[in-house]
Amino acid sequence: MNARPPTGLHHVTAIAGDPVENLRFYQGVMGLRLVKKSVNQDDPATYHLFYADGEGHPGTDLTFFPWAHAKPGTPGVGVVQETYLTVPPGTLEAWEARLLAAGARVDPIVQRFGERALPFADPHGLRLALVEGPDPFAFTPWHDGPVPAAEQVRGLHGARAPLREIAPSERFLTEVMGFERVGEEHGWVRFVLPGAPAGGAGRILDVREDPDGRRGAWGVGSVHHLAWTVADGGHQVTLRDAVARAGRRPSEVIDRFWFRSVYFMEPGGVLFELATEGPGFAVDEDPAALGERLILPPWLEPYRPRIEAVLPDLSGALPPAAAPTAAADAAVAR
Ligand code: ZN
Repeated sequence: MNARPPTGLHHVTAIAGDPVENLRFYQGVMGLRLVKKSVNQDDPATYHLFYADGEGHPGTDLTFFPWAHAKPGTPGVGVVQETYLTVPPGTLEAWEARLLAAGARVDPIVQRFGERALPFADPHGLRLALVEGPDPFAFTPWHDGPVPAAEQVRGLHGARAPLREIAPSERFLTEVMGFERVGEEHGWVRFVLPGAPAGGAGRILDVREDPDGRRGAWGVGSVHHLAWTVADGGHQVTLRDAVARAGRRPSEVIDRFWFRSVYFMEPGGVLFELATEGPGFAVDEDPAALGERLILPPWLEPYRPRIEAVLPDLSGALPPAAAPTAAADAAVAR
């Protein structure tokens, strides 16, 4: 019997350059809320920054490892080429003006699979597209942000990746992960997770076969992994078992504190994660003050002074109204 499919994207994690520039763009231009300021659990001298809607709902979350001195990523097969974010219908022109005013590289508005999309790049070369859509997101506006609530990013819509060969990924996506193949346009084949309940987030993965394509490489401006939402630990274990039976060698369940994670590569080389819906970002912070202080997992807490001493200062990234972080950080450091 097949395992129940994930309900949609949980988060997308990418590699950024300078963290101050990253914060300025995602909070100051895109109007996403910094809901968690933590460290890379495998490299605690660098940040892990989480941006989302006003409450940090799963499915609205774009996260970054800012590695200011890393090399730029190399586009290619097995690496996500573009991440889609949903915005409300009729808002792309306003977004185009906002992004151009911020100096972003913006492509013309296009029609893809019947949806209007605005492709653009962030300051570190990460390719994104805003897509107008009515996805039924669990979404809370962020009222302290620079973007009016009626235009705010609703959440993750999907992603696209070129693959050397579609067939093995198609078998895995449809037979193990529960995606459905729904169409093809300009060489891109669209896979969609089946009708998630209301509140489910981005369910789209587009892939294109590029048999002679070079393998891409991670670096600044590339997506590191796509995390798909599983309801709870039981759902996660069932899907993990199915992934293992398909020969994909999933990791053990790793406790990320705000959710639990399993990692594996789908057959085309794209790194996937299965992330549990809970416990969520409010487990260790007041929901009103999400992202204001540096949060460390308990096992890194003893090293806080050393970690804080090496992390770059983010307090100058935003005007005071949007940057309540300095005082909170100072309070914690004492
Ligand atoms: Zn992740």
